Amino acid sequence: MAATTHESAVDAGLSPDNPFFEPSALPFETPPFDRIRDEDYLPAIEAGMRQHLTEVGQIADQPSAPTFENTLVALERSGQLLTRALKAFGAVTGANTNDTLQAVQRELAPRLAAHSDAILLNDRLFGRVRDLYDRRELLALGPEQRRLVERYHLDFVRAGAHLSDADKSRLRALNQEESTLSNEFQTRLLAATKAGALVIQDRSELDGLSESDIAAAAETAAERGSAGWVIALHNTTQQPAQESLRRRDVRQRLFGASVNRAMHDDANDTRAVIQRLAQLRAEHSALLGYPSAAAYALDDQMAKTPAAAIRLLDDVAGPASDKARAEAAQMRAVMQRELGDVPLEPWDWHFYAEQVRRAEYDLDEAEIKPYFELERVLRDGVFFAAHELFGITFVERSDIPVYHSDVRVFEVLESTGEPLALFMCDYFKRDNKNGGAWMDNLVDQSRLLGSRPVIVNVANLTRPAAGQPALLGFDDVTMMFHEFGHALHGMFSDVEFPMLSGTNVPRDFVEFPSQFNEHWALEPQVFSNYARHHATGEPMPRALADRIRAARTFNQGFALTEYISAAVLDMAWHTLPAGAPQQAVREFETSALERHAIAMREVPPRYWSTYFAHIWEGGYNASYYAYLWAEVLDHDAYAWFTENGGLTRANGQRLREMILSRGATEDGAVLYREFRGRDPRPEPLLAERGLVSAPIL
Ligand SMILES: [Zn+2]
Repeated sequence: MAATTHESAVDAGLSPDNPFFEPSALPFETPPFDRIRDEDYLPAIEAGMRQHLTEVGQIADQPSAPTFENTLVALERSGQLLTRALKAFGAVTGANTNDTLQAVQRELAPRLAAHSDAILLNDRLFGRVRDLYDRRELLALGPEQRRLVERYHLDFVRAGAHLSDADKSRLRALNQEESTLSNEFQTRLLAATKAGALVIQDRSELDGLSESDIAAAAETAAERGSAGWVIALHNTTQQPAQESLRRRDVRQRLFGASVNRAMHDDANDTRAVIQRLAQLRAEHSALLGYPSAAAYALDDQMAKTPAAAIRLLDDVAGPASDKARAEAAQMRAVMQRELGDVPLEPWDWHFYAEQVRRAEYDLDEAEIKPYFELERVLRDGVFFAAHELFGITFVERSDIPVYHSDVRVFEVLESTGEPLALFMCDYFKRDNKNGGAWMDNLVDQSRLLGSRPVIVNVANLTRPAAGQPALLGFDDVTMMFHEFGHALHGMFSDVEFPMLSGTNVPRDFVEFPSQFNEHWALEPQVFSNYARHHATGEPMPRALADRIRAARTFNQGFALTEYISAAVLDMAWHTLPAGAPQQAVREFETSALERHAIAMREVPPRYWSTYFAHIWEGGYNASYYAYLWAEVLDHDAYAWFTENGGLTRANGQRLREMILSRGATEDGAVLYREFRGRDPRPEPLLAERGLVSAPIL
């Protein structure tokens, strides 16, 4: 550990020309994307793994007795070359990939899994960690240090450090196969989603789409070198265009393209991959003494057991599907007037939902969108709310290199003017980007390493046609607040150890800060500040704003039902015991939905398993329930704000100190209880979703 990073990188065989050779000299040590070429990642990551293993070997084999400093602090300092290369690599493979990067990713996946195993299954290292864990009461540790000891010990145990040699090598093989298959799933799904796009040759089939949507579809077609118009698939079952497309046959084709992607018996078919992944995860968990992959996954979550998570899903499934059935009845009435006695199909839902919404709430997306212009939403909404709560300010910088010209960079300053973090955003859809929206860390905060956070928010907003402003639906506005909530959790992190930093918290806690932050989108003080007409600057008329608020509970039966259905599929796959045969995908899904009384033909799951990226490649296996779990927390916490004066600096400071700065330095249930003064209660969630008539507080 005496060697400097410089010498280690040389020893590990990395060329000094490689942009990862030294820590980045850029502000906040942000990756030097202007110098990084696709071919730089592999050698840097390979050298990083070698360097890391050397460092870990020195820690494990040192003659001195284990101390907190010489073992755990040393581990926290190790692997910095690998970390900097992997952080940048993770960002570009998620948001700006290509064939070269995908090939590197495929090659690296099993080797990275093996690398992690080589550390976590190192007997001598585990001996030192276990020794510290056993003596933890005697070591005079602070709370964060004690937490670090417990987390390391748990990670080693969960990785199988205590297993026999034969079981360890079996585990290694399972880990490698799983990692390769997850990666294979990602590659196939990206290709299947691109190939599944709906190609339109006859302009009349686009009837109902706005001029700007049609222009965007023409541009997508041109980019792909095809004639006509292309409606690219979004990652969910239901597609945004469904609410506008007037031709029922086109909606049916678009729906078919969406649900059947990745199951065409071709190279992009994901069925065999997920069948095998489910088996692998069950076997892996059984080796470690857990009855299922879900039991293993939830053991270190806030929920603790699959039963607790399933109980929440089942509790909400009844009220949710009751509400969805009532919504379906309303839509059938509208449809019958138009089409006579035909059944409501899933490809009709969004189209008639939009009509009912207009009739009941007089709320027209086309009427709303001019008031939600991306730039105003970002600066006068998302940033404004954060400024009111936390006093932070944002200065755009054009001197920081980025991985794609779409990416924008803001320096985030404390109320004192002190620099806090870099925030990047990459909002527009590209074919080389994974679906959905997410937050990513390019640099983690750590006092030990002297590093400050660099955070990126990535999304798939429809790119406006050239020269047009980016006008958003309210869902997109909500998404921006959501992802920025994750960003705040990363940026406010104030911890010693990188392992416990920022969003490195359990899945069912990590969505709490993000979903909580969504509430500010409709807070009158924030809303009136950003919801202004893009051309005239006029505030949104009060009546229209009131209708948006009133419409919040509209279609919530559908939204919750499609969500719970997907969460049920996730739990069904991951509660299979080891040794269960491979499951026929669609049959397995149908029986799971029926078992949990959530099956509704008109409301298919938000994701069918074949394109459920969260659970097969996104790390949300047995964790998709976590959004609902965290939603209980976010509504309950917002109720605390409402009870205590709402959007104030004092309240923001309390949230920052008690939740957002704490990372994983304490159990989420404990942090929450300290913040709220009691355990979370679900009533505010049910009220907000319109599933009960009035809040019960
Ligand atoms: Zn999130």
